[in-house]
Amino acid sequence: MIKINEHYLKLKAGYLFPEIARRCAAFQEGHPEASIIRLGIGDVTLPLPGAVVEAFQDGVGEMAGAKGFRGYGPEQGYGFLRQAIVDHEYRPRNVELDCDEVFVSDGSKCDTGNIQEIFGLENRLAVCDPVYPVYVDTNVMAGRTGPGDESGRYQGIVYLACTPENNFRPAPPQKPVDLIYLCYPNNPTGVAADKAHLCKWVEYARENRAIILYDAAYEAFITSSDAPHSIYEIPGAKEVAIEFRSYSKSAGFTGVRCAFAVVPKQVKAYTASGEPVAVNPIWNRRHCTKFNGVSYPVQRAAAAVYSEAGKQQVRGLVDYYMENARLIREGLAELGYTVYGGVDAPYIWLKTAKGMASWAFFDHLLETAHVVGTPGVGFGPAGEGFFRLSAFGDRENVQAALERIGRL
Ligand SMILES: *Cc1c(COP(=O)(O)O)cnc(C)c1O
Repeated sequence: MIKINEHYLKLKAGYLFPEIARRCAAFQEGHPEASIIRLGIGDVTLPLPGAVVEAFQDGVGEMAGAKGFRGYGPEQGYGFLRQAIVDHEYRPRNVELDCDEVFVSDGSKCDTGNIQEIFGLENRLAVCDPVYPVYVDTNVMAGRTGPGDESGRYQGIVYLACTPENNFRPAPPQKPVDLIYLCYPNNPTGVAADKAHLCKWVEYARENRAIILYDAAYEAFITSSDAPHSIYEIPGAKEVAIEFRSYSKSAGFTGVRCAFAVVPKQVKAYTASGEPVAVNPIWNRRHCTKFNGVSYPVQRAAAAVYSEAGKQQVRGLVDYYMENARLIREGLAELGYTVYGGVDAPYIWLKTAKGMASWAFFDHLLETAHVVGTPGVGFGPAGEGFFRLSAFGDRENVQAALERIGRL
């Protein structure tokens, strides 16, 4: 008799976005005339930059000829892209990497979801609350947790509450943990890390022989001059941290798919008897066994992000979204809301009006302003009483949404 992987049965239903869609549809059915403005889901809206499109098309053109045709490429990514990443993402920040420490992939969701496979099931996990659900769910699937409770928390995970009191930057826990997921600039709170905070985590990881999985998908949105863009800006981080970056949000690649992970050669995990094992060759083995590389035209498109024109155009996209973020942040503050984030990430995290619960505020905003956001509690119990607005919409919608919220 075929047995199912019962760890999957522990998963709480993917409840958040379907529930938002359900409530929107129900409201629209009752109010067909209402034009709903959606500032909920974190997906980009502007088209691909011209330099990216050109390189993408050139890549396809090459594949159309006998001379330029390519079959399987290197699983880890073409040398031209890995080198461009080393030269343009890291060297300017005084981080020296070798190309074979960079693994090109089809997305940071896959990377942050897959990386846990190479670590033992007995490792103790720490995640932030609220959190990007991929980190938690993939560990539940793997069997690294006990059952979940009503609030969506799973036994065996150490949850680090991110609150205004700690500036959404939780300190390392008292008890030792082995695998730590950090995401800065953060989805959903929109807050960037600061150096002192990351230093504490790197120190903790070194003392406890732990590994930090650092999701920097929103790195391009940082505007604060003192916020670290890479965890490798912190001394010693190359021995204890794996970093994830994506072209999705910065260059509009959510539908194109390209990202990369950095696994420095110094990063070590340990056998049961305490022998150190380099993680880079293990991840390389896993990546090559289960993945056959990102398509050539897509990698050409990604490399174009580092051309002069590409850099400028990506900056244009990011600036557009960050101007939306500024409008939302300042507009809501003027209306008396307490707002966080929106300076180094395209998300604004706000306290709901009058201490409403997240879902009550969602309904209130939908019914009275016809504006949709994301209830904070959907990202974890510490998100209760908060609400996320995304700056990825178009300017007119952002302005109209603010006007409507102002009339409440
Ligand atoms: C959008 C996002 C990513 C990027 O995912 P891709 O699979 O590269 O599109 C990664 N991490 C977080 C927290 C995100 O919000």
